[in-house]
Parts: sequence; C-alpha cells; structure tokens
Amino acid sequence: KRNIAVMTSGGDAPGMNACVRAVVRAAIYKGCNAFAVMEGYEGLVRGGPEYIKKMAWQDVEGYLTDGGTNIGTARCMAFRERAGRLKGCKHMIDAGIDALIVCGGDGSLTGADLFRAEWPSLIQDLKESGDITPEQYERHKHLNICGTVGSIDNDMATTDATIGAYSSLDRICKAIDYIDATANSHSRAFVVEVMGRHCGWLALMAGIACNADYILIPEKPSSSKDWKEQMCEIVGKHRSSGKRKTIVIVAEGAITNDLEHISAKEVKDVLVDRLGLDTRVTTLGHVQRGGTAVAFDRVLATLQGVEAVNAILESTPDTPSPLIGIEENQIVRLPLVEAVRITKSVADAIEKKDFDGAMALRDADFTE
Ligand code: ADP
Repeated sequence: KRNIAVMTSGGDAPGMNACVRAVVRAAIYKGCNAFAVMEGYEGLVRGGPEYIKKMAWQDVEGYLTDGGTNIGTARCMAFRERAGRLKGCKHMIDAGIDALIVCGGDGSLTGADLFRAEWPSLIQDLKESGDITPEQYERHKHLNICGTVGSIDNDMATTDATIGAYSSLDRICKAIDYIDATANSHSRAFVVEVMGRHCGWLALMAGIACNADYILIPEKPSSSKDWKEQMCEIVGKHRSSGKRKTIVIVAEGAITNDLEHISAKEVKDVLVDRLGLDTRVTTLGHVQRGGTAVAFDRVLATLQGVEAVNAILESTPDTPSPLIGIEENQIVRLPLVEAVRITKSVADAIEKKDFDGAMALRDADFTE
C-alpha cells in the first residue's frame, strides 16, 4: 500500500486547503494511506506523529471552502541545509512515506526538487549510519515528488494559473470597488498598492477589472516615456473629461524605465504635486491572502490534487518529478525541474535588473 503525504509550504494561498482535501481523498479512494505534513518543511525536519499525521477521509471535512491552510505552512531555514533535509528524509522513512505532494510557491518547489535529487545520497547516509534498516533502504530507494503551485502572485512559468491567484484578484477587486465609492464621493485619487514583487499579474488584472487609470508593475514598462509624465497626462485627461475618481494600482515591485523601484508614496506625491489631487494611499496587504477561495481556485485545486495522486501512482523510478499545471484549460503534467528553473531564472534576472535577459527567458518559455 502506497503512503502518500501532502504538504503546504511558503506563502499561504486560498485554495491550498482544497488541494490538501483532494490529495487526501484521492489517495484514500485509490487504496493508499494519506498523510499530512504539518507546518511545511518544518514538519518534515521535526518529524513524529505530531508533524506527520495520518489523515482519514473525514479529517479534511470543510477544507474545500476554508481559506488559508489548515495543515500550516512555515518558512524553514533548516531545510535549506543538507543536515535538515537528512532529518526530513529519516522522518519520512520512519513514517513510511514514499511519495510527497507539495503545494507551494517557487521556493517550496525548488526545495522539493533539491530533496528529490539528493534523496539517493541522503538515504545512503542513513543506511551507512545504521539509522534505517536495509529493508527500509530497499523500500524507500526512490522518492516520488509532485508539485502543485499555490501562490497568489501567479508567478510560476509554464502554468497559466496558480492556486490562489484568482481568489486574491477577487479580493483586490472587491477592495477597489469599496475604495471607488469613497473616491467618487470626495473626488479623490487613490494609490492602491497590491502584492507582486517580481510579477505584475495581480496589478495588471486588477487594473483591467477595476478600470484603473494607471498601473505600475515590476516588468519593464512598455513605454519609453517617463512614467510620471505619462501618468499625469492620462489621469489629467480622464479628470478633464469629468471623471471624479482616480485609481492608480502599484505592484510592490513596480519599477521605472531606469529600473528604479517606485513606491506608492512616490506615486501619491506626483499626483498631489503635479495635478493637485487630494490623494490617499491604500496598501491592501494581507487582506489579499485572506478569505475563502473563489470557485475557480476550488476547482483548480481539486483537479490538480487528484491529478497529483494519479501522477504519483503512474510514475516509475525513471519518471521525472511532475508539476501539475493548467494550460489552455487542461490540467497537465509538466517537468518540475524545468518549470522551477525557468521561474527562478526569470526572477533572478529581474533581481539583477537584467530585463532583456528576463524577457528572453520568458519568451523562450512561451514559444517552447
Ligand atoms: P514560496 O514557496 O512561497 O516561494 P519560500 O521561498 O519562502 O516560499 O520557500 C518556502 C520554504 O521552502 C523555505 O522556507 C525553505 O524551507 C524551502 N526552500 C526554499 N528554497 C529552497 C532551497 N533552495 N533549498 C531548500 N529548501 C528551500
């Protein structure tokens, strides 16, 4: 009987619970034992029944609609070191786990991929030190890892949507709808800061859905014009045609043509100084992560959780670890290593302000 564990890791995202529920129930339905690793990789490093829990069908009752992640998530420094991963390996074997499904962002999936790659050497060490028996060694020689992407930013290459992104977008849109009413009443301008350090998807989509006047994102601006000039020209035009409210959306990681960071405060100052608008800043913060998942995320997480279990059961020792994604409305299996590599290299290029490099990587992803 296979023993399949599920874990949520990194930043929480609405829909993670739906994914956990789908994995647990699909595993049980397929005749396997289901486990949950509590508190992300921290639970693996600590081990024991408190952190690696056997899950029954009823244990995930209500998970479909719950926001956040009920099995906990954490940022775990110990797992970044080999010694931490060695403990994780031992604790998984102690619990009898032979497959791990991770729902998390690119950091968590990088960790998962590293764990898989290192597994043969970790388990060899445990055998040599006598921490596991030869029988355990034989049974656990191969670790099956499978990733599903839980991230509100929609920032994973090769998948169209990540679990949580549409819920977060919905929350942002609701918040901006509230702001709209007061902006309109007082004829004010609002600068709304949304999440997204490397990826402007939330800002861009919220801008379209909420009729924003101007949007600032971390990707290289498409116009060569100075953003201050362009924003004032556009907002000024909207104002002179009789619009009483102004909404400017700024992603956390927004940048200028010269690749300098743009803060919400800076945007506000420009609207006040150049256009004389009564301007307020609203930072949406963690509200963007909260609440229940929208229907799309519940469905996405459920289909992906089931597919993750199928992928584990169909894998052979030679199958590369899959990432469950969605492409053109189809749930697909993608090579985890590739998806993580492209995502990381785009993020690294943006971090180094190598935008042409980042765009080339992204384009290569699209054409492949
Ligand atoms: P996210 O998954 O949302 O991107 P993080 O980047 O914080 O969030 O990653 C979550 C956890 O995954 C980290 O706390 C760490 O335990 C693990 N992790 C991330 N990157 C690595 C890595 N390069 N090696 C090993 N573990 C990692």
